[in-house]
Amino acid sequence: MKLVKFVHNKEVKFGVVEGNEVILLEENFLNSIKKTSVKLSLSEIELLSPVFPSKFVCVGLNYRDHANEMKESLPTEPVLFLKPSTAVNHPNYPISYPPQTKNLHYEAELVVVIGKTAKNVKIEDAKGYILGYTCGNDVTARDLQKKDVQWTRAKSFDSFAPIGPWIETEIDPNSLDIKLILNGEIKQKSNTSNLIFKPDFLVSFISSVMTLLPGDVIMTGTPSGVGPMKVGDDVSVVIENIGTLPNRII
Ligand code: MG
Repeated sequence: MKLVKFVHNKEVKFGVVEGNEVILLEENFLNSIKKTSVKLSLSEIELLSPVFPSKFVCVGLNYRDHANEMKESLPTEPVLFLKPSTAVNHPNYPISYPPQTKNLHYEAELVVVIGKTAKNVKIEDAKGYILGYTCGNDVTARDLQKKDVQWTRAKSFDSFAPIGPWIETEIDPNSLDIKLILNGEIKQKSNTSNLIFKPDFLVSFISSVMTLLPGDVIMTGTPSGVGPMKVGDDVSVVIENIGTLPNRII
């Protein structure tokens, strides 16, 4: 099932994507998934970020090849950082190139969406707390990341956390092709089987530190091939059996 949040007739609504149609839901899918009889065409709606997370919990260096290209040793535990809720961005919306950076990078990532409040969850119970999976771009000011002791500034500008286009609830997240396409050219290409720390483990690990709320997301890290974007570029994250998250740099 593909759960979607969108604007139609100037109202925010929730739905389930089936083919080229969206079945309207009675309310936010975080509360309940009850279909109505109303069907809309995908072409007449404007997609939104499927959730507005209270926090983006992000994992650094979760693919071996990316740790190598960053000249970092492999972590023995997940390296966590946060992006603020205000960095949230939508499919097809612009990503702003801030004046403080000269090196803005894309990072294609599989995103875990939390469905119910999670605290001290065991690995074997983690699936029960996951609503589904979507695509994310962990936009990063690479020069500021290298300059600062920690990564908050580099990761936190408004518009630096596009997620979408919808939440896929029925996939195995551990074997999905993931790609980053910049102006039609493939820049990152990997498979989530290469993740060092898998989604179920991450839900358990992170929930032993902080409570995860419904709608919170975990950005699971990016494979190798990170690189720069410039104003006017079209960037898309594509994950097998989920969909495509397109944005433009302005
Ligand atoms: Mg990242």
